[in-house]
Amino acid sequence: MTEPTIFKRIIDGEIPASIVYEDDRCLAFHDVAPQAPVHILVIPRKEIASVDDLTPEDEGLIGHLFLVIQQIAREQGLAEKGYRVICNCGEGAGQTVFHLHYHLMGGRDLQWPPG
Ligand code: 5GP
Repeated sequence: MTEPTIFKRIIDGEIPASIVYEDDRCLAFHDVAPQAPVHILVIPRKEIASVDDLTPEDEGLIGHLFLVIQQIAREQGLAEKGYRVICNCGEGAGQTVFHLHYHLMGGRDLQWPPG
């Protein structure tokens, strides 16, 4: 049996996280190693390893995650200046936790390209 990811353990309440939003389909919490003044991770409760593992049945879930991201960005005061939503897919892109997640980052000027 494969080990549960750190995010699955957060979903299950086994390890603590600073949660900013939750509902029956997703959870959002502060990144433990923030790379911007606001750095929040938005994850589905459903165990999906990465974008590459999505199926057509996940279409509605992904739309929901983006509306949650929009709501949190507004609540965090990011909407006016702008913010970035990042989803790393696969090791080569920098993914380290294989439970689908979006990084919501803002509160400082963000450079492009990210590297
Ligand atoms: P990735 O590199 O997979 O796109 O992003 C994983 C993110 O999860 C990283 O930004 C990392 O700091 C964050 N992270 C890893 N472990 C934990 C944890 O235990 N708690 C929280 N809140 N964030 C974590």
